[in-house]
Amino acid sequence: MLLVENLSVNYGAIQALKGIHVEVFEGEIVSLVGSNGAGKTTFLRTLSGLIKPNTGQIHFLKKNITQLPTHEIVSLGVSQSPEGRMVFPDMTIKENLIMGCYCFNYSKAEIQNNIDRMVTWFPRLGERMSQKAILLSGGEQQMLAIARALMAKPKLLLLDEPSLGIAPIVVQQIFKIIVELNREGVTILLAEQNARLALKISHRAYVLELGALLKQGKASSLLHDKDVQRAYLGG
Ligand code: ATP
Repeated sequence: MLLVENLSVNYGAIQALKGIHVEVFEGEIVSLVGSNGAGKTTFLRTLSGLIKPNTGQIHFLKKNITQLPTHEIVSLGVSQSPEGRMVFPDMTIKENLIMGCYCFNYSKAEIQNNIDRMVTWFPRLGERMSQKAILLSGGEQQMLAIARALMAKPKLLLLDEPSLGIAPIVVQQIFKIIVELNREGVTILLAEQNARLALKISHRAYVLELGALLKQGKASSLLHDKDVQRAYLGG
């Protein structure tokens, strides 16, 4: 579904990604793990067309999307829930959700259907539809950011650090929903600093260190890999 070849991104003199190869197959949860500053956010933002790479190619469903603008990439079926949630604080929950399908010419009925679908996934949002997003807790804002991305009915959902700054019990709920979304057919690429959490729900994973790929493989094997355990799993 997604094929990324030799991807490099520079910020001035800083080389944030160094010739990365990543592949995601339909139906998978693939995680990208690595510490703070490893390049995970840069990678996801480049997939979404928000950053243009210095080298490399990105193919989605066999189409070269490397130079496409973000709204076209979203229209093809890739949407992102960004690091730090980035909800629109002064807009209501409903308005935030509607922004998620801004690129599409959905009818009012289709938008409402889509919102109803989000409420079945995230009932807490349904109870607070007309409240401003700024009033939500961190966990609820994370749910809103994921729901907003799902409003575009993506084939590939990019999730950047969904556990960041959120109470452990809510993180468990969010990760359970991620697994259920995947079972319903959404392919997921998950960037996470919490490697244990990410590896537990993923089929495969890539370990990124200082912009380079350190390891890749089945998530279950990486969970038992001595180097990964030492560097990312605290043991
Ligand atoms: P985090 O989870 O903390 O965001 P990350 O793995 O997502 O970490 P990136 O945010 O992609 O990592 O950062 C990769 C490298 O690029 C880091 O060295 C970071 O300081 C640098 N970097 C990121 N954004 C910029 C920018 N806009 N300008 C300059 N350097 C940047």
